[in-house]
Amino acid sequence: MNPSKPTLLGIPFDANSSYLRGAADAPPLIREAFHCDSSNSSTESGIELSTESVLDAGDMALPPDSAFPAIESAVGELLNKGQAPVCLGGDHSITYPILRAFAKRFTDLTIVHFDAHPDLYDEFQDSRYSHACPFARIMEEGLAKKLIQLGVRTINAHQRKQAVGFGVEVVEMRDLPAINKLKLAGPSYVSFDVDVLDPAFAPGVSHREPGGMSVREAISHLHAITGDIVGADLVEYNPKQDVSQLTAMVSAKILKEILGKMIARQ
Ligand code: MN
Ligand code: MN
Repeated sequence: MNPSKPTLLGIPFDANSSYLRGAADAPPLIREAFHCDSSNSSTESGIELSTESVLDAGDMALPPDSAFPAIESAVGELLNKGQAPVCLGGDHSITYPILRAFAKRFTDLTIVHFDAHPDLYDEFQDSRYSHACPFARIMEEGLAKKLIQLGVRTINAHQRKQAVGFGVEVVEMRDLPAINKLKLAGPSYVSFDVDVLDPAFAPGVSHREPGGMSVREAISHLHAITGDIVGADLVEYNPKQDVSQLTAMVSAKILKEILGKMIARQ
């Protein structure tokens, strides 16, 4: 078996959402759009996806009281089998346990984080594990060598301070494009929060933040990443907010392009 075959893992978890629930319903709907006959399995990097090249570990059944340890161990098991986890959220809080598993294997990871929000709060609504906090936990624990954020357009004074303290490279939406900042060395991990996209392209999110990326801008930045993408997550698609499954299709398109990049480098 290819040692780093991408493997889908659905993580139906939205208990750490601060505003709206619904992202837990996303994984099967992203899969349905991914396999939908309205498109095909080609990607723009020239890779044809297939059940041979992309494995699917299904959706997790999460224990309500210990979701994070369960996520960390499921991702760790895939990594131990030589697979490259591509997790379908779920809210963005899941990236913290996912990265705990990755950090045991990769000591020099660069995270490329697409998001309208920096998700760097030390604490949000009395929780340190809110979907507004994962990158504070990740940087505190040293789970990545470098974190670069793209498309941010809601950063406040507290999170600016956090970003400086953790040495995060924040590329705000107004400063895009940032193609030249994606020439990376070593393994990289893509964390894609669907709300980085303008709500005109992706209305199905819990926090619609206008003034975001077009789908094309997001794909151009994904394609610009150099080096090996060893894992990814696609989070915050909220079907309850969607219009005519538009955001499911957009999520599936982004997923295809991430997978194509991962395979093209092998
Ligand atoms: Mn986020
Ligand atoms: Mn966000």
